[in-house]
Amino acid sequence: MAASIMSARQALRLTSRVRYFSSTAARQAAEVKRLGVIGAGQMGLGIALVAAQKAQVPVTLVDSSQASLDKGLAFAEKLLAKDVSKQRISQEQADAARALLQPTTSIDDLSPVDFVIEAVPEIPELKFDIFSKLAQICPKHAILATNTSSIPITRIAAATARANPTDTSNSSRVVSTHFMNPVPVQKGVEIISGLQTSPETLDTAIEFCKRLGKIPSVSADSPGFLANRILMPYINEAIICLETGVGDRDSIDAIMKNGTNVPMGPLQLADFIGLDTCLAIMKVLHTDTGDSKYRPSVLLRNMVDAGWLGKKSGKGFYDY
Ligand code: NAD
Repeated sequence: MAASIMSARQALRLTSRVRYFSSTAARQAAEVKRLGVIGAGQMGLGIALVAAQKAQVPVTLVDSSQASLDKGLAFAEKLLAKDVSKQRISQEQADAARALLQPTTSIDDLSPVDFVIEAVPEIPELKFDIFSKLAQICPKHAILATNTSSIPITRIAAATARANPTDTSNSSRVVSTHFMNPVPVQKGVEIISGLQTSPETLDTAIEFCKRLGKIPSVSADSPGFLANRILMPYINEAIICLETGVGDRDSIDAIMKNGTNVPMGPLQLADFIGLDTCLAIMKVLHTDTGDSKYRPSVLLRNMVDAGWLGKKSGKGFYDY
């Protein structure tokens, strides 16, 4: 009985979503004329570059650090030059994409955007503060998306009411577009609704990600969502195997690479993602589920404390 009530409700929701989707979401996604991206690190830069190339919209790229903006744009130019040299795009296309990236250190420059994607470090207070500001700065129709790997979307959405607790209307515009690393290469993107996210926001986010050439999967606002719920315990277990001497670094990476046909082993992948990011996600899984199976490895904690964050810091399980 309960199951049939559930499926009836789900069917109703699905019907109204399909109706909305066909009438408005595709149009609203197509009407995104300017994107905002906050954070010009490895994820934000990748999202901005893909948007410039695929959706061909101007991208206001905000970073609090001018050095990060300079580094990110230099990297974008390198990626575009590589695409030109491999004849994947013409020099004109590369120039056009580069011209669409508009860097700034001021979040206030996001006032004209139709869609914004936040990709700052995985620090809850930092994201809450940014979403509180976005609710004030961005136009009322703009979708406010986060690239968080693990922070509940419901909590990020609730932060939009911080400046004015009686106005919770902005929370329905918050959604997660969780891109995979490296963004220009990986096709998958996880779209996650918070409790407050409207079906219109969800559908528009799905359609906009398709405009970026991505293949969306929808997952629930549950610790780690789908991708990291599966991936991070795998990486953490590999680090525990190293820490407890079950295998050395090269054996661990080689058996998974050569035995499961993945492009890199779990330790190299952890370096690539960033060990601080991996630790932050494991802490969320551990705290939010209360399940000891998600305990972050001691070695992972120590490496983050040492500042050995993987590729981005020059040292992790490998030297760069
Ligand atoms: P990163 O450290 O490479 O980049 C973060 C950028 O944000 C930096 O350039 C930093 O200067 C900037 N920044 C910091 N505070 C800011 C502020 N107040 N305003 C504007 N910019 C600010 O981090 P990343 O790896 O790109 O991760 C970004 C987000 O994406 C995190 O939430 C992370 O969990 C998520 N994510 C990461 C991966 C991955 O593989 N690295 C994959 C999926 C999702």
